[in-house]
Amino acid sequence: MGSFGNMERDLENMRECFRQGRTKEATWRKSQLKGLLTLMKEKEQDIFKALQEDLGKHYIEAFRDEIGTVTKSLNTALESLKGWMSGRKAKLPKIALLSTAEIVPEPLGLVLIFSSWNFPFGLSLEPLIGAIAAGNAVVLKPSELSPACASVLANNLPRYLDRKAVKVFQGGQAVGEELLQHKWDKIFFTGSARVGRLIMSAAAKHLTPVTLELGGKCPVVVDSLPSSWEAKANFNLNNDVMVICLFDFFPTANQKVAVKRVLVGKFGACAGQACIAVDYVLAEKNFAPTLVELMKVTIKEMFGENPKETSSISRIINKGHFLRLKNLLKDPKVEASIVHGGSLDEDNLFIEPTILVDPPLEAAIMTEEIFGPLLPIITLEKIEDSVQFINSRSKALAIYCFTKNKSFERRMVSDTSSGSILFNDVIIQYIADTLPFGGVGESGTGRYHGKFSFDTFSHERAIGRRSLLTDFWFRFPPWNIHKLLL
Ligand code: NAD
Repeated sequence: MGSFGNMERDLENMRECFRQGRTKEATWRKSQLKGLLTLMKEKEQDIFKALQEDLGKHYIEAFRDEIGTVTKSLNTALESLKGWMSGRKAKLPKIALLSTAEIVPEPLGLVLIFSSWNFPFGLSLEPLIGAIAAGNAVVLKPSELSPACASVLANNLPRYLDRKAVKVFQGGQAVGEELLQHKWDKIFFTGSARVGRLIMSAAAKHLTPVTLELGGKCPVVVDSLPSSWEAKANFNLNNDVMVICLFDFFPTANQKVAVKRVLVGKFGACAGQACIAVDYVLAEKNFAPTLVELMKVTIKEMFGENPKETSSISRIINKGHFLRLKNLLKDPKVEASIVHGGSLDEDNLFIEPTILVDPPLEAAIMTEEIFGPLLPIITLEKIEDSVQFINSRSKALAIYCFTKNKSFERRMVSDTSSGSILFNDVIIQYIADTLPFGGVGESGTGRYHGKFSFDTFSHERAIGRRSLLTDFWFRFPPWNIHKLLL
């Protein structure tokens, strides 16, 4: 079939392998997870090197976001597998007198995983862990835009895992399209909404269930922390006289912590090329100048006087994306709103951490997902206006909110919707096995991580068992009213 002649034969072999039941065995699942763990240990240097080659990712960032998180998820899966696999008891209604019931997870069959280039290991292996733990045969299609990482996966997964049940197909759109012509028992896709739509329509042909991990614009609301009239005792020794100053008008520790976290959620998350990276900031007009000054100082602390020389910020993935980001800045009205940074180096695919204040809301930088190190700050009269601002746009994968105001926090939860919402921090929801990770509305459908990954690749089968001893008479016709009177 098509240009990839052996694909159908390979897939049929994998289906047969699944039918024979080998991937369903707990011992098989465990051995594959252990194999992956060994791969992560033994090939750590290759992984670092590939991430450096494709994205200029610093090895600490690479460990934090890929090797460390995947290793943690593998350990969680290995520790929890027995519990995840065991069914749970359920009750049947009284009409089914003398009965028992349970819900038992079963694997779906042959599943397909598409991954993206920004976290090429995390976004490939995190769903793979769930698919293997749930007992499926798996095909992985990594992104062609991070070719060094895709090669590490394609060369090593067959060495460490059962090659009859786990396969990697490398390539771009053509391979993706070819894969979509086949019948799958589940498609798990990480990428753009544009391709997500193609995945969904291809899946509809076979009624294949899909999980779509998409993106969008994740806002961060930064309230002035603490409010300017909050009393804070400062003790200063001045000419041997202790001066107690009750009002602290200087940027406080809270503001500094918030700014550091906001900036790492943008520039420290693959240079903003992350689905849950901070896309833009919402802040009060009065607070914006303080925020900008704090950001400028913190950017210097993080990336030095000449950020171009730092190794602590990833590079833009390729020329196409570099030019896309350049175009976002090119609009004269957008350029005029730059208050920090803005320099670009096409040869090195480097974009300086850039802050903009109030670029036009109709400009592409505020209508499209930025996916790069450009950070617009949109100013509002009151921080409460951020609720309406957020609700007038598509549902985000994540909303971040820095505030100490509990009633505003409650309002953000009750009056907005997003895949996740995090208060006073960014990104860390991604590493929590205990929280479902996924979008809502245009930011995606379905969820994974930890047990949620296992569930995503399982079918929860309802099982009921009854005794043959007894039945209620009214269950069966003829429904003779006279029986009621007897
Ligand atoms: P993309 O949609 O271009 O590509 C994703 C995958 O689909 C790749 O493997 C690619 O080869 C394949 N593909 C591309 N065109 C195809 C076609 N016509 N038919 C079949 N397959 C095709 O997305 P991308 O550039 O890799 O990723 C960027 C987007 O992904 C951003 O919107 C980002 O927010 C989102 N993203 C989401 C998450 C998440 O976890 N929710 C994580 C990373 C990225």
